[in-house]
Amino acid sequence: MKKKITIFGSTGSIGHSTLDIISNHLDMFEVIGLTINCNYEKLNDQVKKFSPKVVSINNNDAYKNFLKINKDKNLKILNGIDSLINILDFETDMIVAGITGAVGLMPVIRATEMGKIIALANKESLVCSGSLITKLAKKSGSLILPIDSEHNAIHQVLDESNRSKVSKLILTASGGPFLRKSALEMKNITPDEAIKHPNWSMGRKISVDSATMMNKGLELIEAHFLFDFPHEKIDVVIHPESIIHSCVEYSDGSILSQMGNPDMRTPIAYALAYPNRIETKVKKLKLSSIQKLTFFEPDLIKFPCLELAYESLKIKKSAPTILNAANEIAVEAFLNEQIKFLSISKVVEKTLNRASISPINSIKDVLDIDNESRLISTELINQVHY
Ligand code: MG
Repeated sequence: MKKKITIFGSTGSIGHSTLDIISNHLDMFEVIGLTINCNYEKLNDQVKKFSPKVVSINNNDAYKNFLKINKDKNLKILNGIDSLINILDFETDMIVAGITGAVGLMPVIRATEMGKIIALANKESLVCSGSLITKLAKKSGSLILPIDSEHNAIHQVLDESNRSKVSKLILTASGGPFLRKSALEMKNITPDEAIKHPNWSMGRKISVDSATMMNKGLELIEAHFLFDFPHEKIDVVIHPESIIHSCVEYSDGSILSQMGNPDMRTPIAYALAYPNRIETKVKKLKLSSIQKLTFFEPDLIKFPCLELAYESLKIKKSAPTILNAANEIAVEAFLNEQIKFLSISKVVEKTLNRASISPINSIKDVLDIDNESRLISTELINQVHY
């Protein structure tokens, strides 16, 4: 029996890598659904190659343009934001959640309720609604397999039968493109400079998050919800080579880590095939050619976003949701050259101070808090000249 897969964000970086792996294992996987925002031409290529049953196109113009070029008469073509949920009416075993941002949240929640296997790349799902999703997953039996490289590494080396003997989860961070820049040099960074990551190829938003180290902050929160360890037991260490993807430290002094060349196809393949393993075309890591690996403490003063994430995790309740929403608005404003690079953390900090901290008991709570925080951040950006 082939594993049936629906990919959210099929033309993005995660979706692209997922289909690359599937194309080498067509005997094991069947593509059921693909969702995109705008890139209808790339979707058309994917439809020709993988013959899915259904596609969802969020952008209206892209939808109309796709209708003109599509030749697959059996393909069901959905349109609009609701179709990110409706696509789940088509039977699938697993979803690959590759949509960045809060828009990727609803399909993850719905698929979790339905008890699907979730290959999770969308950070916001756990950051904004971690307690809800883990509760839903327990109830439905849904299995969440992280494809973020750090969490995937931890998933690979975390011995659940010895959970009480785990002393620490250690998330590694490349430090992003500005690791060695001074605060002064970071003042006039342009969007183009910020999206050039030294080790990983990723989308624009996540590349900026990596440059501010908010990415690691979001991953810290994600790790907390995913593996159920308190913030005191989750450390971040800078490891510029991105060879060790994260570690688990045990009380006997052992540290177990997962290593490999930085290529998202490894964690994606792990999730697709779990609990088995499949081959990928990822270049194998030659240990003798690395020679040395380096590690050091993160600089929380130079990278205040990481500190803000720690703070929000200490407060919990709605604080991580506020942090995430404020960051999305601030990063967008930076990419549109409305605010400076160093102002991203200021917008996030001020939004955290202004928004009301309240408990999260439902999806409605998440969406309300997300909305409120976005309004506050937008107002801050429009009022103050950063
Ligand atoms: Mg990561």
